[in-house]
Amino acid sequence: MINLHTREPTEIETLDTYLVAMGIEHFTAAELLTMKRAGVTVPEPPREWWPRIIPTLRAAEWLRERMGHPLIVGNCYRPDPFNRQVGGARRSQHLFFRAIDLDLPNRKRSHENESTFYSAAAELWISHGRELSLGLGLYRPWRGSRVHLDTGFRRRHWSKKYTAPLLESLR
Ligand SMILES: [Zn+2]
Repeated sequence: MINLHTREPTEIETLDTYLVAMGIEHFTAAELLTMKRAGVTVPEPPREWWPRIIPTLRAAEWLRERMGHPLIVGNCYRPDPFNRQVGGARRSQHLFFRAIDLDLPNRKRSHENESTFYSAAAELWISHGRELSLGLGLYRPWRGSRVHLDTGFRRRHWSKKYTAPLLESLR
């Protein structure tokens, strides 16, 4: 089981201290507020939204643990106009601080490791998708691979070219 318990942040907590208090060890506020490819820092989301990202980050921690090495945050919070600028879905969960895009570090980019990454994400969806209402997107962008996770909205998956055969093979 992935722990779904969260609490509201206190008024004096920073996003970083809140993440640590929620048991998030490997993802920092700076990473969550950076759109890596664009090299852009986005504003901090409203404090009352902070609990939304915690189950998503616990899922990200699960994936990191499974891979046995750090994962790179491509982007996480994407308020408009940033979401529009990158062509994000109009109702993207990135808008609401529920979603994260994870990339392999450059030194871990191999065809084999990409397959492992996608399989691990598919396993996460099968084993914890229901409890998390997990959204899973598997992308193969310009280079490397990218896994999108969101929680607390609806269990679903997309980029079916990758997800469908993987899920089939894991059943
Ligand atoms: Zn995404």
